[in-house]
Amino acid sequence: MNSSRHFYIDGAWVAPATARDMDVIDPSTEEVCATISLGDQADTDKAVAAAKRAFTTWGISDPAERIAVAEQLLEVYKARAEDMAQAISQEMGAPIELARQQQVGAGSWHLEGFLRAAKSFEWDHPLGDWAPNERTIYEPVGVCALITPWNWPMNQIVLKVVPALLAGCTMILKPSEIAPLSGVLFSEFMDEAGVPAGVYNMLNGDGAGVGSQLSAHKDVDMVSFTGSTRAGRLISKAGAETIKRVALELGGKGANIIFADAHEKAVKQGVIRCFRNTGQSCNAPTRMLVERSRYDQAVEEAEAAAKTITVGPASEEGRHVGPAVSEVQFDKIQGLIQKGIDEGARLLAGGPGRPENLNRGYYIRPTVFADVTPDMTIYREEIFGPVLSILPFDDEDHAVAIANDTEYGLTNYVQTGDIEKLRRVARRLRSGMVEGNGQGFGQGSPFGGYKQSGNGREGGRFGLHEFLEVKAVSGWG
Ligand code: NAD
Repeated sequence: MNSSRHFYIDGAWVAPATARDMDVIDPSTEEVCATISLGDQADTDKAVAAAKRAFTTWGISDPAERIAVAEQLLEVYKARAEDMAQAISQEMGAPIELARQQQVGAGSWHLEGFLRAAKSFEWDHPLGDWAPNERTIYEPVGVCALITPWNWPMNQIVLKVVPALLAGCTMILKPSEIAPLSGVLFSEFMDEAGVPAGVYNMLNGDGAGVGSQLSAHKDVDMVSFTGSTRAGRLISKAGAETIKRVALELGGKGANIIFADAHEKAVKQGVIRCFRNTGQSCNAPTRMLVERSRYDQAVEEAEAAAKTITVGPASEEGRHVGPAVSEVQFDKIQGLIQKGIDEGARLLAGGPGRPENLNRGYYIRPTVFADVTPDMTIYREEIFGPVLSILPFDDEDHAVAIANDTEYGLTNYVQTGDIEKLRRVARRLRSGMVEGNGQGFGQGSPFGGYKQSGNGREGGRFGLHEFLEVKAVSGWG
């Protein structure tokens, strides 16, 4: 049986050891849309034990068998895409069109990328001509805890579950307790795809409970985590006791460097990109740096672009911006908008409070500040809402210095008509990704950050590698 109050352990839907309910709130309406159970230590132990048992066979299974299961998962995922879009849209507020195309689309896209990587992966090979009797063998890490956030739920879940599965690991997924419905549905997909019992397990729970229990568990070999830098730090500490492998995908504060010779739509596109998913993306370009000779014009363009953006419920069709995910996030974003005003940034669009005619739901006015300076809170902190900061720069060196002046290093953006300049600047930016002139990344591209944005790389063959150990065997013959 399946219910959002149940966990998926050892190939079956099971009730929690001790019932502890938590309501899931629809952020568009502030109404309860489902109830889940939060797990405790007994549930965590049960799921880890199931994964540990299953590893004895799955860990040495033929990669072809694992690929076949992942292919089956892709079939189920595509067949039930609409159910998934509805679940995501309701639980975290992504407008339904965005949920269908990008939130759900990201999952199948990554799944295909992993399948391609696994099919061409060399699971073992000789070290080289100079050591023909030595074999280098890639093996699964073991039992993995996968802890995911609410902002791009299927993107994150697929980026962890699928490479773990293909590598031969067994796992326990703990989706975000704020947006758990997509994780429950995904567990149905795994069941329908025929994943062997115990290979994949799913527990709901909060960070202080199941999240911490998994991170400290002696039988968990690896934690793959996406979420806040705050939680990433705690997980690293909890995992240190048993020397776990800890892969972290954390926050960001992306700079979008717009040179004077950039494409004429660069500013408008930068604004839209910043507000996508209500600004709730770790790779959002939230600091727009504009070359001084184009600055005044850019400020006008950004103001005009922001004022055309509409806000509305997730269930409505269209390309509007949805609500923030929760009351906690709503209050945090409102506080930071007020701080921007108090610290002297120039408000161009939006501002505190809800948009007109939206009195219920966690709606935020898409907000743009100009003349932001590096000492301001809105420049330094990840806001995770539809708030853009604009500031001028003098030359290439200055732009790079401002862009790198952050504890984060996830994604930066460069807009210029000069390809040599783009390459030079891209190399100098301290971030895991640099998007040039709005060109999207390819399937299987490594996603991850420098500095306090984390240490992991997800997607394609890079993501597969994260879940593999490397073994050296001599005397292979
Ligand atoms: P969060 O850190 O509060 O929660 C993320 C997950 O971690 C949830 O499942 C939560 O229950 C769990 N968790 C919280 N505290 C924990 C602890 N002490 N031990 C173990 N697990 C714990 O983050 P969030 O609010 O859900 O997500 C927003 C954050 O995620 C933002 O900072 C954003 O930048 C980041 N993010 C990063 C990426 C990336 O790939 N770099 C992608 C998406 C989101």
